[in-house]
Amino acid sequence: MKSNQTPNFNPKNIVNNITKLTENGLKKSLIASNGNDWDSVVALLDESEHVIGREMSVNSHLNAVMFSESFNKEYEKTLPIISNYYSEIGANKSLYEAFKRLKKSNLNKQQKHIVKDSLKGFELSGVGLEGEHSDRFKAIQEQLSVLSNQFSKNVLQATNSWKKTVSIDDLKGYGEAEISKVKVGDEYVINLQIPVYIDLMTYAENRELREEIYRAYISRASDIGITPKEFDNRNIMNEILELRLELSKLLGLSNYAEYSVQSKMVESPEEVIRFLENLVDLSLSQAKKELIDLEVFAGHALMPWDLMFYSEKLKQKMFDFKKSDLKPFFPESCVLSGLFSTIQRLYSVTLNEIEQECYHNDVRVIEIKDKRGSIGRIYIDIYARENKRGGAWMSDFQGLYNDSLPVAFVVCNLNSPKGGKPALFDFDEIVTLFHEFGHALHHLLTKVTFPCAAGISGVPWDGVELPSQYMENFCYERDVIDLISGHWETGKKLPDDLFNKVIASKNFQSGLQMLRQCEFSLWDIRTHISDQDTYKILDTVRLKTSLMPIIDENRFLNSFSHIFSGGYAAGYFSYKWAEVLAADAYEYVKSSGGIDSKAANDFRECILEVGGSLDFMQQYVKFRGGRPKIEGLLKASGITI
Ligand SMILES: [Zn+2]
Repeated sequence: MKSNQTPNFNPKNIVNNITKLTENGLKKSLIASNGNDWDSVVALLDESEHVIGREMSVNSHLNAVMFSESFNKEYEKTLPIISNYYSEIGANKSLYEAFKRLKKSNLNKQQKHIVKDSLKGFELSGVGLEGEHSDRFKAIQEQLSVLSNQFSKNVLQATNSWKKTVSIDDLKGYGEAEISKVKVGDEYVINLQIPVYIDLMTYAENRELREEIYRAYISRASDIGITPKEFDNRNIMNEILELRLELSKLLGLSNYAEYSVQSKMVESPEEVIRFLENLVDLSLSQAKKELIDLEVFAGHALMPWDLMFYSEKLKQKMFDFKKSDLKPFFPESCVLSGLFSTIQRLYSVTLNEIEQECYHNDVRVIEIKDKRGSIGRIYIDIYARENKRGGAWMSDFQGLYNDSLPVAFVVCNLNSPKGGKPALFDFDEIVTLFHEFGHALHHLLTKVTFPCAAGISGVPWDGVELPSQYMENFCYERDVIDLISGHWETGKKLPDDLFNKVIASKNFQSGLQMLRQCEFSLWDIRTHISDQDTYKILDTVRLKTSLMPIIDENRFLNSFSHIFSGGYAAGYFSYKWAEVLAADAYEYVKSSGGIDSKAANDFRECILEVGGSLDFMQQYVKFRGGRPKIEGLLKASGITI
């Protein structure tokens, strides 16, 4: 009987505990580096992974949802201990050799896959390099981390360097909520922070002001425009690109795009380019039409600072409903019970709330059962509150291992019950909830008992969002809407006219959006293949993807942090890739009988149960009977070809 699944939400002496656990883990890794078979290498490392993972996970969860200065101080002390632990394991040459020995031993299919993936991980971190190559590799990694840090600092400082006091007349078009964001005492101060910028572009009727802030925003951290030139990122970008190329060559790869795809499902940078160019070709005519419609609506040719403004107005005219019209139909009890019924029909599992004391009264514990009995738990912490980090996410507390069942935390920041009304949810909040449950089910429904490959562990980067985005699609089914809606006063389901507007507005300007995301992704992959000037590459990409005039000050790459200081270098395409997989999987299930069908159950068996223990694409093909096609995404986005 597996029973160990209750996190300790009142951890004490966390620095001490983490120190002890990681010391122990390092001792075990030394023993493992002398091992010759699965039990003496991987199983030993897995033991540490399980206990350290549990401890870390609950600490980081509490730090995010019950923030306190005193706990945060302790928590921050544990971070370098953990990161040292993982870098020591990753740089351990004898452990790498042990995995090489293991490759030749007697292993089953899953074990073979795990060993192959681990070897690849070691190699990509440079462990296989010797002498001066190894030294140079380490030096490049250090230099890259300094540069990417400098890049984001420059973006931040350039962003913060500009503000302007405006009059209330300049803010004509704003609602109360937008005005409150820029009111400082008796004045109205605008700046280049994202929420302020977006409000201005979307609502300000003053066209000159929109133009001014657009020009300032798009030239941040560059050598032109009105923000200070001292934050120019151009040289840093060039240096980052050169160092990435050198690092890839040290590993015997021809460029950084090749390095990036090693840890992804796609097989080559060329496959990525073909995929993106195909999406561009198929979306182009719809995007052109959308832009013409918008220009006709505006009554004049559009500049970049007009796009959001007229789009918002056109959207309001076309789908005359407000977000708040939907809310009363989605009280929390209906949404959750509808979500649970949807999951039950999809995966033949039941979800029931159980009583358990947690760190806060808002937290609910959901037990998931299949015909074998309990298979795990989800802790849902759903309402926004003070001292809780914003946004929504899923994190795993522990996986399926020895006497442990999988446990996940799902965190959202939704409205709580107010003024005698139950909690009423926005439609996009419901989509988020389905998304996070998709991640949680990936973790919970696993049948893999090796922590390094169970649930979401070991899943390639461009596959992690498949189960979550797949779940989102069900929110737009009439059947599912009937399960999750029920007016909080009358009990009525969401009426058809509102439902139809939700569907139509979801795909508003989807052609233009598709082109924009493909432009970023194509530039990203191409700039990591070629050593040509990065802005020249962008110009070439834009010949195909850009329908709007581009102003001279446009230096948006100089603040593109995803690529130069985040983890998305040569990987930006993953967003679109995962969307294609999710839409293709959904289309296939729908056309094979839908929510109660064998195909839905096949998704569970081939994708969710297997996690990172087998080749992700092969498993996808097994589920789908073929490789993913992009038609599903085009259909889901309302793009007709
Ligand atoms: Zn996600």
